[in-house]
Amino acid sequence: MKYIFVTGGVVSSLGKGLTAASLGTLLEARRLRVVLQKFDPYLNVDPGTMNPFQHGEVYVLNDGAETDLDLGHYERFTNCVLTRHNNLTSGQVYETVILKERRGDYLGKTVQVIPHVTDVIKDRIRELSDESKYDVVITEIGGTTGDIEGLPFLEAIRQFILEVGPQNVVNMHVTLVPYIKAAHELKTKPTQQSVAKLREIGLQPQVLICRTEKPLDRDVRHKLSMFCSVSEKAVVEERDVEHTIYEVPLTLHAEGLDKLLCNLLHLETPEPDLADWRKFVERVVSPKRRVKIAVVGKYMDVRDAYKSIYESLTHAAASEDCGIDLKLVDAESLEHDIEARLKDVAGVLVPGGFGVRGIEGKINAARYAREQKIPYLGLCLGMQVATIEFARNVCGIKDANSTEFQKNTPEPVISLLEEQRGVRNKGASMRLGTWPTKIITGTLAEKIYGDTEVTERHRHRYEFNMKYRDRMNAKGFVISGTSPDGTLAELIELRDHPYFVGCQYHPEFQSKPNKPHPLFKGFIQACLARQAGCATHARADQESPRRAPERELVPQR
Ligand code: GLN
Repeated sequence: MKYIFVTGGVVSSLGKGLTAASLGTLLEARRLRVVLQKFDPYLNVDPGTMNPFQHGEVYVLNDGAETDLDLGHYERFTNCVLTRHNNLTSGQVYETVILKERRGDYLGKTVQVIPHVTDVIKDRIRELSDESKYDVVITEIGGTTGDIEGLPFLEAIRQFILEVGPQNVVNMHVTLVPYIKAAHELKTKPTQQSVAKLREIGLQPQVLICRTEKPLDRDVRHKLSMFCSVSEKAVVEERDVEHTIYEVPLTLHAEGLDKLLCNLLHLETPEPDLADWRKFVERVVSPKRRVKIAVVGKYMDVRDAYKSIYESLTHAAASEDCGIDLKLVDAESLEHDIEARLKDVAGVLVPGGFGVRGIEGKINAARYAREQKIPYLGLCLGMQVATIEFARNVCGIKDANSTEFQKNTPEPVISLLEEQRGVRNKGASMRLGTWPTKIITGTLAEKIYGDTEVTERHRHRYEFNMKYRDRMNAKGFVISGTSPDGTLAELIELRDHPYFVGCQYHPEFQSKPNKPHPLFKGFIQACLARQAGCATHARADQESPRRAPERELVPQR
């Protein structure tokens, strides 16, 4: 078994998660079986309760674990299907240790960071070390070297290397090499200091991944090599990508990273096959046409808050050789002036969310998309607001609402199930993880999925209230997918609309490059069809310019 540990130096937000994920892509392209895991030094037990403003989206796994968004990168960039074992926080480590202590498992010993906390951490690495399944375990340590919370993790890695032998381990340090304009120079000092910090703890990196705006010249590479005791060819440049994050594996490959790692780990592998990945990147970078999509949400200034949704749109659009002009619309702004804000878009997407803020704006967005026959994709809360809208404005149920927003609403078209009431603890009543959906034959959903049973990831409390099903169906609101026993609505669509789809689950957690999710793909196809049919978009089929640099998607306000 081989191990790669990825630490970060100097500052946060260096894209360590992306770097680790890209490593996964490259090693898989060399036919190695790879698994990734993330250690998060913060004290929260999981990110489920963290504010998207601070922490970006909560990424949900098949088993219902609410995890860090880096696990989304791991799943999108590799074939890994992760579980709660692949994300460990200090909160979980201490919870485990304290529970053991209370149970008396430590037999009266003094409980200490070394060995008790570090043992729990090492156990998590070992848990993944199943040689029948994987060749390489990649472990990313969140935070920055020097953080107090990170110390037990680094100490655990130091011990772990001793146990498995240094020939089986590579320590990779992702660091910043800043460019100082006044001096016209790239500076190596922060990296030197960060590596010195690692050495203090007893860790010597074998590879430096240098995040930089400018190319690293020979001198800088030499200096970093000398001062950090890393061989010169292991000083790897990771320049800011020009167009899309999906370029990262290609740029790291061009720097020889995958070959270097295989040499360091004594792994014999074929040359990597990156043809499909290259093709995907090419389509993302210079698509034949573009389409404008509005995403109506609450956290429009936080790029990471809807990360998986933006990525899923990119995957689906690339499969249609199309680029996306993203219009990020603050839901609260749609309480008025909806026409002015949405009239130029070819599709409307309403993401998931919690709480009442912005709800009426989202309901207006759903109404506008329904009336103007603009393709609509509602994810989780996006499906719930579409339901409320239809009940109010088509079925005449004026007071229709969700009990989440109005506790005693007389018309709870969205509500808690009887058995959920009384579960007090936040999170305890949440429906999480993968559940099967039975798709009703003859629906648009069946056509999109090409299947009658699918499994999708959930993260919600409230459900469609089946008491309203017949009344709404009579007016054209179709429940096109349910739980296998038929009691829970999972998918809805409108009969008289080219593409109005809402799902109670989160399809964005299962979309990948070259494997777009059917609901997103169907949505983009419908948007393109609408655009082609619109006189105002007559230029749609012209060759579009290359994607604007340094933007994932091009936000327009
Ligand atoms: N707030 C809604 C619920 O709990 C929707 C959740 C979501 O969009 N993820 O059911």
